[in-house]
Amino acid sequence: MQIEKQREEKSRGVESFFAQKKDQAVKALRLHAEDSTPQEAARLSVEELPVPQPAADELLIRVSYSGLGGGDFRRVETASRLARAGLPTVTMGHEFSGIVAGYGSGLNEDFRAQFGVGTPITAEEILWCGACGPCRSAQTNYCENLRVLGFSSDGAHAEYVTVPAKNCWSLQPLVDQLGLDSALRFGSLSGAYGLAYRALFTDERGGAHGWLPGDRILILGAGPVGLAVLDLARAAGAAEVQVLEVDPARRHTARELGAALALAPEDADTLGGKYDRVIDATGAPELIAQLLDGKKVAAGAAISMLAHTGLSAAYQTEALISSGARLVGVQGQAGGVLERVVRMLATGCLQPEKLIRETITLETALQRLLQQKKCEGKILVQHGNA
Ligand SMILES: [Zn+2]
Repeated sequence: MQIEKQREEKSRGVESFFAQKKDQAVKALRLHAEDSTPQEAARLSVEELPVPQPAADELLIRVSYSGLGGGDFRRVETASRLARAGLPTVTMGHEFSGIVAGYGSGLNEDFRAQFGVGTPITAEEILWCGACGPCRSAQTNYCENLRVLGFSSDGAHAEYVTVPAKNCWSLQPLVDQLGLDSALRFGSLSGAYGLAYRALFTDERGGAHGWLPGDRILILGAGPVGLAVLDLARAAGAAEVQVLEVDPARRHTARELGAALALAPEDADTLGGKYDRVIDATGAPELIAQLLDGKKVAAGAAISMLAHTGLSAAYQTEALISSGARLVGVQGQAGGVLERVVRMLATGCLQPEKLIRETITLETALQRLLQQKKCEGKILVQHGNA
């Protein structure tokens, strides 16, 4: 009876929330699907919109922090091409943390119990359908009907976002250890850590890409995802992690996070020994070709590619065959990965604060995107609710 009463109270709370917010305007960073130059202010703007209404299977989430990173800048750079390809006008923002503020009418009791109003959460950026062949074969990251938050579906550079409940994960274990604000700050990095976790430890067929503690690892690119790979690999017992990165400030951060060596890519030919794992977090296929040609990939190594850049390079197939190395593509954070990332963050074995360069407002985020003023680390956009 007690539980039913609590649910009734929560339900009344949600109704009164919508009654209160019905006419309230909330801010969102919108990218319009128009074939014009990215710098035109009319194309990219902070707008006031009504509070979004959750669909039957969705949660309404009050956003606390959203992550601004390389993916956002690339999205703006390629906006004209993507608009011509049919992508819609969207609210940007693919990774975030926030507080559940309401839910759709179709959510069952299990979901309502997991995500009561007030629950701190983060979410997967790939919104998978659950019905196509890959989804039904437990390969949801490669859904044939996928939508991507902030890319093809309204995202989280906004005061409110709606996301299917099946894509959301509670940050409560992190809140219990670090308090609410730190949990929300670090929870907004779940996109980078989730992708890094999948690159290192899991694949769709239940394998682990051959991960073994004691491995030697080379990371290409020390942006937020590359740094998250470094942080996770160190915490999970890698013997040595080395980094190739163009930007000196990022190389410095990589050393702070425990990289044994952080070099500019032009110094790649000075690297010694062989690597059990190569993780390309920046999109540098020519460097992978160079490593294969230089026989710097250990027998049975996995070479994981995470960056959607459209670049290509020619490989010597003989180098792959004679080493038994595998080229592996990795995208998304679905499959229970975010739950494990949250648990790892809660143990204190990771250093997420080193990935964050600064915290800015939504209006400043707009200016950065208009000026294409990138940052050497992750920028958090703090919303009025945080
Ligand atoms: Zn699917």
